[in-house]
Amino acid sequence: MIDGYTRVCGVMGSPVEHTMSPAIHNTISKALEENLVYLPFHVPAGQVGEAVRGAFALNLLGINVTVPYKSEVLPFLQEMDSLAETIGAVNTLVRTERGFKGYNTDMPGLYRAMCEDGVRLTGENVLILGAGGVARAVAILCARKEVRQMIILNRTLEKARQIADEVNGIAGRKLAEARRLAEYDTLPAEVRYLTIQATNVGMFPRTEEAVIEDAAFYRRVHTGYDLIFNPAETRFMSMVRENGGRAFNGLKMLLYQGVIAHELWTGTKIGAALAQKAYMEMKKAMGIPLCSC
Ligand code: NAP
Repeated sequence: MIDGYTRVCGVMGSPVEHTMSPAIHNTISKALEENLVYLPFHVPAGQVGEAVRGAFALNLLGINVTVPYKSEVLPFLQEMDSLAETIGAVNTLVRTERGFKGYNTDMPGLYRAMCEDGVRLTGENVLILGAGGVARAVAILCARKEVRQMIILNRTLEKARQIADEVNGIAGRKLAEARRLAEYDTLPAEVRYLTIQATNVGMFPRTEEAVIEDAAFYRRVHTGYDLIFNPAETRFMSMVRENGGRAFNGLKMLLYQGVIAHELWTGTKIGAALAQKAYMEMKKAMGIPLCSC
């Protein structure tokens, strides 16, 4: 029941029409009997500052920020969490007395998803496919979790090099190296990798594509983590499985970035059973068959 005490949260982006976040947050609020609603806010290009100031003036409790505003929003924040500052992008704004504080819950969300899926980072040989905004954050997560080594493969070598240099600066040693995507066949033959797929290739509607099409590459992958969640089974994931590896999609990362944001807004810890309920609602909203996996 919406009344004069109802708190409002939401997601700002462009586009936002296909967002799954209302399914996550409204399921959690309903289950916890919180007087809180979560709405999508389409913010036109060039109006991020007005949107953040307006949200504060309208007493919004919290806002998620999605493409293309995760970096553009930074100048309009009162404060930033240290992880968000290192990553240089935020996806969650939390109301404080004088303005919003920015957090990045995408990476803690990915990490929580990986832990639940039994995927370990510490001590691993990691391949990152892509060198965009998310790949950069993944590389920082891998450095913080002390992977054994990291190779960043990207179509544009320079972008992979920039991330590798930055990560090596953070680690204080040569932890990461950059290679051109087309040079995937030059990887050391004896190593099998945890491979994190952080390009856009294979996303709906171009679901028949994978960023690397060669089965020989996939025989080197013991675990494939595709950050794409639509479709739920990407061609990358199918190729990993066909060649003997385990494969996961980005749906749980999406779930847990939302769960962590909700925890920041309300101060209430969300248990595993409720997270699972929100996961099921997300899947239902996306038309994905409802197994508990
Ligand atoms: P981005 O900054 O635009 O980066 C895109 C990356 O994909 C770049 O490395 C780009 O290579 C590469 N790429 C694009 N088209 C390619 C092609 N045809 N062949 C080879 N490489 C290609 O995107 P982003 O924001 O990092 O997002 C990356 C992925 O993460 C998306 O698929 C998105 O859905 C996913 N994501 C998932 C979640 C979640 O919660 N699960 C959250 C955020 C994002 P170049 O550098 O050469 O252009």
